Amino acid sequence: MQPSLPEHVIAAARQVRSSAPAIAQAQIDFLADLIRLRTYTGEEGPAAKRTLDEFQRLGFAGVRTSSAGDALAHVGDGPLHLLYDAHLDENEIADEADWPHPPLTPIINKGKLHGLGASDCKGGVATIVYGAHLARQLGLTQDCTVTVQGATLEEDAEGFAMRHLMEVDGFPRPDAVLLAEATDLTLRRGHRGRCEIKVKVQGKAAHASTPELGENAILKARPVLDALDAMSAKLPEDPVLGPGTQVVTMARTPHTPNSVPAWCELTIDRRLTPGETADSVVNSIRQALTGMDVEVKLATQQVRSWTGLDLSGPAFFPGWLLNADAPLLTAGRLTCAALWGRAPRVEVWKFSTNGAYSAGEAGIPTLGFGPMEEQYVHTPQDQVDLAKLLKATMFYALFPLVFSFIMQGDHANEAF
Ligand SMILES: [Zn+2]
Repeated sequence: MQPSLPEHVIAAARQVRSSAPAIAQAQIDFLADLIRLRTYTGEEGPAAKRTLDEFQRLGFAGVRTSSAGDALAHVGDGPLHLLYDAHLDENEIADEADWPHPPLTPIINKGKLHGLGASDCKGGVATIVYGAHLARQLGLTQDCTVTVQGATLEEDAEGFAMRHLMEVDGFPRPDAVLLAEATDLTLRRGHRGRCEIKVKVQGKAAHASTPELGENAILKARPVLDALDAMSAKLPEDPVLGPGTQVVTMARTPHTPNSVPAWCELTIDRRLTPGETADSVVNSIRQALTGMDVEVKLATQQVRSWTGLDLSGPAFFPGWLLNADAPLLTAGRLTCAALWGRAPRVEVWKFSTNGAYSAGEAGIPTLGFGPMEEQYVHTPQDQVDLAKLLKATMFYALFPLVFSFIMQGDHANEAF
């Protein structure tokens, strides 16, 4: 169905499309600089500083770092508060020999910019910085204050830095959060949650030469593994996000090759549907293991910010799903329709994001849109298509105007 778009939105979209190419080179230069910096989780300092420099150069207001070291600044001064979020930390290089280009040397080939973090999530950072810049330059922030965040600690502990920002630093609660993670220019309205559980099977140590005096925890883990595996068929299921999953990913024992192992600790990766809590997950596993000599607990995610804050906490990242009729989603569709004549697909992510906190924990309407493609994320083919980068930038430039329009009155449903 063809959406009916108000004239001022159509005019602004035309303005955004014709103005965007003028910022493309500066944006690519900024992204290339970010790629040159190796910024693993907890080591984002140089990329945060480079982002602050860009904010200053472009004339953003409120240029600062959070206590966890996120790079923050804003444009506009309206009563509606949007948070544009993309993270500066990146997945670690497994083996540099697998990379077709040196990972920290940005290379443009056939319209694609290659380099570590291009698809996750430095391409997203360049998108939101220049999207907000363009909105300000063209006078399109309307009723919105748009805070742009180059976020930290997302790869290892998605949502932890954002929780600290909102609950400890006192950052004002946004009306909506937009995540510029990989979506290939489609909209994403949620993802399953995840958590890490430790199951410790208790045995009894003895010298390996006299095994009859001990209790072998590895052998005792056998029925535990079977019971955990049998749970897989009965996990909660969401009609949109699909079923939860549960996988034993690691097994650890004391490092003593000539003893009967006194314990065996299993690590479980569990993917969650919205509404599952740490207690409900731990209790369901305890129940499945009733009568076995085990201890079940939520793991702790260790993480330290580059500014020196210890943000370690329970390894629980809730799932979330934005309502199909949410005004935020309507605004996302309408923005695309205004720019390109049609609204994109609306899907859900396979992986987890900072939305685990913003939507899953804090209940803030959250939506994903980014230029990067999931197939390149965490691979040696890491890249972003520069034409898509510019298109996503146009989306972020026009979005505040459309969101203002949607939130002004009862326009949320009339466009579709
Ligand atoms: Zn990411």
